Amino acid sequence: MNKKLLNLYGLKFNPFAQNVPAAALLATPPIDHFCWRIEQQIGEGGFALTTGDPGSGKSAALRILAERLGAVRDLSVGLLTRPQANLADFYRELGHLFGVPLSPHNRWNSSKVLREKWLAHIDASVHRPVLLIDEAQEMNDSVFSELRLLSSADLDSRSILTLILAGDQRLLSRLEELELLPIASRIRSRLRLETHSPKQLQDCLTHLLKAAGNPKLLTPSLLTTLCEHAAGNLRLLMNLANDLLVFRCAEITEVGGRLLHGGQGGAGKGSVRSSMRKRGLVVVFAWRPRCLRGKRFSTGVQLSYGDVMQTIYPTSLTPEQYAEQEYHRQVRPPENCPNCRRAHALEALAYYHRYITAATALVLLIWVRRFLCRHCRVSVSCLPAFAQPYRPVNTPTIAAGFQGQRTPEVARWSELIQGYWRRFESHLPTLLRQVGNAFGPVPLQPSAQSFWKQLLQHCGDMANATGQLIHQFHTCWFGSYRCHQRRPLQAA
Ligand SMILES: [Zn+2]
Repeated sequence: MNKKLLNLYGLKFNPFAQNVPAAALLATPPIDHFCWRIEQQIGEGGFALTTGDPGSGKSAALRILAERLGAVRDLSVGLLTRPQANLADFYRELGHLFGVPLSPHNRWNSSKVLREKWLAHIDASVHRPVLLIDEAQEMNDSVFSELRLLSSADLDSRSILTLILAGDQRLLSRLEELELLPIASRIRSRLRLETHSPKQLQDCLTHLLKAAGNPKLLTPSLLTTLCEHAAGNLRLLMNLANDLLVFRCAEITEVGGRLLHGGQGGAGKGSVRSSMRKRGLVVVFAWRPRCLRGKRFSTGVQLSYGDVMQTIYPTSLTPEQYAEQEYHRQVRPPENCPNCRRAHALEALAYYHRYITAATALVLLIWVRRFLCRHCRVSVSCLPAFAQPYRPVNTPTIAAGFQGQRTPEVARWSELIQGYWRRFESHLPTLLRQVGNAFGPVPLQPSAQSFWKQLLQHCGDMANATGQLIHQFHTCWFGSYRCHQRRPLQAA
């Protein structure tokens, strides 16, 4: 978002971006209390823990804490950015953070130098230096135990470092393991971040907007709508709001049936549009093809609840019917987890939103159901078959365009559809390698045209073919994406 647009909205910074200044983040009472506890704890050191599901605000809490601790005189605070590193890299980063040159391969010497540095710090400032570790569930066991040994002195009777670990459910499970019990038993302060209520989300959002310089950027009703649809997830809320801001810059006229700014947007009485508006969950955009070009349309992967896998399920509904019937609420989980293949392992998680073109000359916002596998912890999103992964134009329209039909919808989106064809052509060699002869023999000099026909003949229609490509071959028409690959299974 550029300076000019920010000025246009009277904003000092984009309040929905990830990098908002820490001072703009709302310290809720639990976070405030946790910070206070840590301010006390730095006198004695030891471990502290903050946990919560992805999007619950752990990183924000850490940033608030770092900001507070930064204000303590002579306190040195380090943030470990590569928790997944091996021991040698871990030492390299520690050396960098605390300003001591270390030779990672002489661990004995490195730990000695570091500890001397920390002891000198304690002598000078009476505080224990602080090390913050986000995504600590990614840390190796060896790094964990090295940290524990590094941070204690005098036969384990005192701590010379304050360690703040932040992570999701996996961190909690790991701390229950035998190897990490020595750490778990040393945790002195805890902050558990829960799902937010719409009211709490609203408080965070209001605070951010105020800090960004325009408390009235969103109308009260829009604010409420957003908070009610964010499934208690702070990150989801920010992504929703950010999308709106971006699209607003591209002239949104209405949101959730309530006016964001300006006029009516031309929605006809009694139309699908107005009935959807009443439901207050569909964003209706004035049709503006130029503003839609080149945008990423699915925020699903960016929202990422850790690992996401995408599946496609057959449906005869059109995008309008899907939105109008609120069909996302009725979507059943797949029988088997697409990742670990366990049966009946999926439980409801949340929804995410994406955009899809619709016959009524609109782009609709639809909600997509997401489930979580109890066994492998991968979240599974279920995309209706009229949608393509990461492409806003609906599947029947793309298919009609590829077939050379000249329907009004094809004409409306022709530029995008041509772009899709080019993507398909460039993805073809990879695609062919992946599917082999599964859809019939491949000619010596395969062309996009011939493969398109072949797939259609074999599968019936494009939606069906998409499902087969994704589920059997972990690819799709326009590329191979991470969300279609199976994940290595972690030990349960
Ligand atoms: Zn699974």
